[in-house]
Amino acid sequence: MVASPPRSDAGTDVETFGNYINDEWRPAASGATMENRNPANRDEVIGHFAASGQEDVEAAIAAADEAYRTWRLSSPITRANILHKAANILESRIPDVGRELTREEGKTLKEGIGETTRAVQILRYFAGEAQQPSGEHYPSANPNTLLYTTREPLGVVAVITPWNFPIAIPAWKIAPALAFGNTVVFKPASNTPLTALRFVEALAEAGLPAGVLNLVTGSASKVGDPLVQDPRVVAISFTGSTETGAELRQTAAKRGAKIQLELGGKNPAIVLADADLEHAVGQVVAGAMMSTGQKCTATSRAIVDRRIADRFTELLADRIGGLKVGDPLAAETQIGPLIDDRAADRVASEVDAAKKTSAELLVGGGRLGGALERGAFVAPTLFTGVEPESRLGQHELFGPVLGVIPVDSMEEAIAVANQVKFGLSASIFTRDLGRALTFAREIEAGIVHVNSETAGAEPQVPFGGMKGSSSYSREQGKASREFFTQVKTVYMDPPPSA
Ligand code: NAP
Repeated sequence: MVASPPRSDAGTDVETFGNYINDEWRPAASGATMENRNPANRDEVIGHFAASGQEDVEAAIAAADEAYRTWRLSSPITRANILHKAANILESRIPDVGRELTREEGKTLKEGIGETTRAVQILRYFAGEAQQPSGEHYPSANPNTLLYTTREPLGVVAVITPWNFPIAIPAWKIAPALAFGNTVVFKPASNTPLTALRFVEALAEAGLPAGVLNLVTGSASKVGDPLVQDPRVVAISFTGSTETGAELRQTAAKRGAKIQLELGGKNPAIVLADADLEHAVGQVVAGAMMSTGQKCTATSRAIVDRRIADRFTELLADRIGGLKVGDPLAAETQIGPLIDDRAADRVASEVDAAKKTSAELLVGGGRLGGALERGAFVAPTLFTGVEPESRLGQHELFGPVLGVIPVDSMEEAIAVANQVKFGLSASIFTRDLGRALTFAREIEAGIVHVNSETAGAEPQVPFGGMKGSSSYSREQGKASREFFTQVKTVYMDPPPSA
């Protein structure tokens, strides 16, 4: 039985963790558990987590539904105070939670700590956002009418998140959902339940009323599916693969639920002949390889002016070949493992298939063994001469693989960049302001960078993609209020005078 989430020294005990439903930490109704292992060393078990099912989902939705009656009427100032307090609690645990994140997800310790710090910033941002004006005052045809809009919460919201940002993505969905008066049932990725649980724990300790936030761990079919099918769940905020997103879009359309989808990417970095090459190389390598290439905003295509392509590719090969792959907890490591063996095998087989095409493999090219054979390690990989229409040029690999596509002009570069189904983020490297402006106007991407890498998101601005990368909605910043609230228009006339 699990009364509260245990805390232990990382790497010592293997603990069992429960769901958080109606302000109670409890095991799955069936008693079933699922195991989670360290992707850098599959012999190391991180913990056992509730393998929940329909009954647990039902309890969580019922708790959220009941809590909504009062939470929707609570003062935004009260909600802001709770978010602030949760930020302080999480902040005091950054070293522990960052380390657990790294053990569970595999990104480097620096990245694990950085992401946890970001979750704290996101909580603080939305504590502030809760206190911003909500609604507008309009002139009316009738001079005596007070005509205004308010933004009201939606109700019970399902939050479904991927493993690659196991605390930042939950934070940027759950914090605004709560700030604007919704209640939440949260289903995290099965690969990263511990980090999700630590985030929920901070909010629970900060004094959220019972039922306002509920965490249910378990599989997509046994937890995710019943959650999105339930008519009491009025909205779904999802980040994950394009395939799952397509399924959820249909489910939501069938029963009229509001849905927000943040999906995959095939993000280009265009390097023009006038770019500062040293700077561009550093940024492109960071964009492609950090977090082992497992960012939705990772650079996977370097579209390079043919006049500098050889020189630039040489610099890339040097830099990528020198990356230190290993235990993500070790200070010198730059690249950790992929999320699990399945992902590592999938990326390795995509790389094998690419080797059989006209693309030329320059660096890396498969799984790593030797001292790293207990983990899901893939060598940072560079191809050149990638055909824009090839699978390597079109398909999201979600791993440390970069392809160089040489082009003859900026116009061709933009055409190639846009020639994919995705449109999440994009970069250009140039000293020419006019070209930078043309790029910003013509590129089909929701996030545009000039002279910086494709990855990175600040909480105060909208985040999301165009085309197949999103559902036309945006997360974070003021955009989050648009998704997590609905507008009510009020015409208020004085009673006729007696
Ligand atoms: P995924 O397989 O789609 O899973 C995402 C989440 O959805 C997990 O919690 C998963 O549960 C759950 N899920 C899967 N099928 C479901 C279903 N039919 N009904 C309800 N829930 C379901 O994606 P992933 O592999 O974790 O994440 C990688 C993908 O996310 C990449 O494509 C990446 O580009 C994308 N991503 C996008 C953004 C963005 O903002 N655009 C940010 C980060 C990642 P289980 O874990 O239990 O399977």
